[in-house]
Amino acid sequence: MERQQFDVVVIGAGPGGYVAAIKAAQEGKKVCLIDKHFLGGTCLNVGCIPTKTLLASAHVLHQVKHAADFGIATGPVSFQYAQMKARKDGVVEKMRKSLEGLLLANKITILRGHAEFISPREIKVKGQDNALLYAENTIIATGSEPLDIPAFPCDHERVFNSTSILELTELPKTLAIIGGGYIGCEFASLFAELGVQVIILEALPSIVALQGKAIAEALTRAFVKKGIDIQTGVMVEGIDRAGEGLSIRLKDRPPLVCDRALVSVGRKISSSGLSLEKAGIAVGEKGAIPVSDKMETSVPGIYAIGDVTGKFLLAHVASHQGIVAASNAAGKTAFMHYEAIPAVIFTDPEIATIGLTLEQAQEAGYKAVIGKFPFQALGKSVAAMQTEGFAQMVVDERTGQILGAQVVGNEASNLIAEMGIAMTNELTLDCVIDTVHAHPTVAEAWLEAALLANDTPIHFPPKVKR
Ligand SMILES: Cc1cc2nc3c(=O)[nH]c(=O)nc-3n(C[C@H](O)[C@H](O)[C@H](O)COP(=O)(O)OP(=O)(O)OC[C@H]3O[C@@H](n4cnc5c(N)ncnc54)[C@H](O)[C@@H]3O)c2cc1C
Repeated sequence: MERQQFDVVVIGAGPGGYVAAIKAAQEGKKVCLIDKHFLGGTCLNVGCIPTKTLLASAHVLHQVKHAADFGIATGPVSFQYAQMKARKDGVVEKMRKSLEGLLLANKITILRGHAEFISPREIKVKGQDNALLYAENTIIATGSEPLDIPAFPCDHERVFNSTSILELTELPKTLAIIGGGYIGCEFASLFAELGVQVIILEALPSIVALQGKAIAEALTRAFVKKGIDIQTGVMVEGIDRAGEGLSIRLKDRPPLVCDRALVSVGRKISSSGLSLEKAGIAVGEKGAIPVSDKMETSVPGIYAIGDVTGKFLLAHVASHQGIVAASNAAGKTAFMHYEAIPAVIFTDPEIATIGLTLEQAQEAGYKAVIGKFPFQALGKSVAAMQTEGFAQMVVDERTGQILGAQVVGNEASNLIAEMGIAMTNELTLDCVIDTVHAHPTVAEAWLEAALLANDTPIHFPPKVKR
């Protein structure tokens, strides 16, 4: 087989890999992008986009059901889940096609097949396309997959993972979600809104435990109000078929009977099929590929980005790492920083965080204070009947620097962007206070939170001074 030569080969076409490929092409490099499945990776095909498409349908249903609160009369409301699923498939298909067009417009060669190293500079592709490639620079962006637990493997008929549950066309009456992390909670929010009785089984003392106490408590309260049954400190030992449904064996507790189960207990890093040893690349814990802040592996000229590096496991982190890796592969110098990474949980209410929580800031030695503004006191939120939650910022009292921010509530996913700009540019409380925020908008919550942190609130009562 004739060997094809490229400047940069990218393995994996998820949000890490395809962004890296476009950036390298922009830098004038001859680029090849390889994927064994669909363009767009987990994010576009079985992650961010399909889940948010279904959540958007659930949101419309919620609005229609509550139309009377806004003075709008509707008839009886019904929905067909199969149609929601078909809309989701259509959105994914459409975005996949546009992505292919984008890659071709950047003159990127796309190969479909499984890629593995045969030496540090050579890669073999096997599948729909078969090829032998040579490149001075390779970017590994092979992502991650749902983690299967041997004690209760997914059969994809009654016990699903985050990928196979997206293929459901009929809703179960009851759904047990094993794992109360952000993916489990997004599915809980979705299915509860669609009328499914959801039970979350979480081994830790709370759901979304990694997000800190304030967030975990706020989401727990909101979920309980929706009728979601949250069982924490629970160890699942196995799942048996029982009649048409399931019986979930729990340690030191009676079994839980339900129709279907979703196992959402984490992700497995996809690095095993790459023959990394042939390239001499060191592999770390759980298969993660260690990288420098230039995204370079232990082998010069070979980079790794995205979920396969085991850092953050978020699409926008993968994309940003892709830009850094591609810039370095093209001969420039770029570094990856992690101090201001936003993370969003698309539950109802939405949750968004960035930087440090108050507890983390204090542990890190800052004299930290918070400014916390409830949406109940914001005109736009009251007008839209979206008063649940708060926006809060964590500030270094000595310098006024913004160290972190947390939002629970409507539009949290968009609101966090302002704190992203503030933190990336090391802005202070005064910068937010001096910024004119349009009225009435939910973004005014930041101005109010900053004024509160400064002890000069306008739309909130002053602190009682003793
Ligand atoms: C249900 C769910 C919801 C999510 N929601 C969000 C969200 O709202 N926001 C967010 O930021 N993140 C979200 N994520 C996480 C996000 O999807 C991932 O962080 C992101 O996709 C990682 O991108 P990546 O490029 O590293 O890898 P991936 O997107 O996993 O892509 C890797 C690609 O590499 C290919 N590949 C693997 N091995 C090989 C090989 N040997 N040869 C050729 N090709 C190979 C795979 O086929 C795949 O297409 C979600 C994840 C899930 C599961």
